[in-house]
Amino acid sequence: MDAAILAIGSEMLTPQRVDTNSLYMTDHLNARGVEVLFKMVVGDQRDHLVQAMQYALDRVDLLFVSGGLGPTEDDLTRDAVALLCQRPLVFSNEICGWIEERFARMKRTMAEVNKRQAYVVEGAQVLPNDRGTAPGQWVEHEGRHIVLLPGPPHELKAMFEGQILPKLDGLLPKQVIRTRFYRVAGMGESDLDQLIAPVYNKYTNPATTILAAAGDIQIHLRARCKTEAEAEALLVEVGDPIADLLGDRIYSRNGDSLEATVGAMLRERGMTIAVAESCTGGMLGQKITSVAGSSDYFAGGYLTYTYAAKEALLGIDGELLRTEKAVSEPVAKAMAEAARRLAGASIGVSVTGVAGPGQGDETAPVGTIYVGVAVDGECKVRHVQFAGDRHRIRTLACQIAMDAVRRVMLKG
Ligand code: ATP
Repeated sequence: MDAAILAIGSEMLTPQRVDTNSLYMTDHLNARGVEVLFKMVVGDQRDHLVQAMQYALDRVDLLFVSGGLGPTEDDLTRDAVALLCQRPLVFSNEICGWIEERFARMKRTMAEVNKRQAYVVEGAQVLPNDRGTAPGQWVEHEGRHIVLLPGPPHELKAMFEGQILPKLDGLLPKQVIRTRFYRVAGMGESDLDQLIAPVYNKYTNPATTILAAAGDIQIHLRARCKTEAEAEALLVEVGDPIADLLGDRIYSRNGDSLEATVGAMLRERGMTIAVAESCTGGMLGQKITSVAGSSDYFAGGYLTYTYAAKEALLGIDGELLRTEKAVSEPVAKAMAEAARRLAGASIGVSVTGVAGPGQGDETAPVGTIYVGVAVDGECKVRHVQFAGDRHRIRTLACQIAMDAVRRVMLKG
């Protein structure tokens, strides 16, 4: 079964408010094998609402509508559905009683305007709302389902989990859903897609989703079948060749972040790590220590932004800094080795580069990053050139530094 989501509210057409309800619902729907084919955000205008609903019902079996169920003049969801289905709105004494009781519990008197919330589309199933005044409604129309839910996220979520999902489970054909999940570092999205698209493009089941963030790509495979065995077989058929193509660029198969993966590897090996950072200004240490329990393996760090700090805190040779410049392979190497030695850690990792937007030059343009990883008397330096803004370059620098550490441990 396919679905569409309609988020109603003019406030979500401003830069101040975002529709988050649809993300929440999509997550639950996908987990049950329901694909959301499209979603819309529509302001509080009755004609637009009717047209948007009609557009959706011409294309999907399930339409989830959030918002516009309040008591005021601009809450038009009920009217729009009534118009669309050509059915009257009928007053429910029962709902009116619930709302009055709710007000009484709060020691308030119900305003006359709240009676608007007691109107339901004729024939609709009413969905009680124990967190707010607006009840939801489930309307069946020409073999399709229109589900009306309140806009406030805490009300919608309670209703969705308590009432909608159980009803949906009874409606949906029985099927098994199995997923696979890979997280990949050290590759751009387009390179990754070029590599694996020939495998997944041949299949609509399992559905493949690729989510890319700076230096971190997630690949989700979701198989829907009648039996578990069929679903697992499909995941093997598509997931295994993808995993083979990506090899050790896959750093996690359980959803763990790169910092959590690197942390687990350090702990497993009984190793510790120290950082020496320049252009990332502490971000790398922050990432590593964002994982609970990182005191098991994080020895400490040196935040050496200037030449003077590199000399004073890490003991880097001033002559080396002046001849090679701070953003260079020899300095990255010296920083990593010093961090390791001074902190008494098993691994020293350094980052030096130009995050921009200013201060790049011919030898080290903006986006130049050197990452050093020192371990056991050996130090490897990686030089990369990134594009993007300051935040992106610094984020990517942290990702490749952690990935470089991971790779050293994989080989060790
Ligand atoms: P109410 O009885 O509170 O008026 P309602 O069903 O009419 O309920 P709205 O008035 O549309 O809901 O929205 C109430 C609040 O919920 C607003 O603060 C709004 O920002 C938030 N909200 C509405 N829709 C969404 C959405 N799709 N995602 C996130 N927040 C939302």
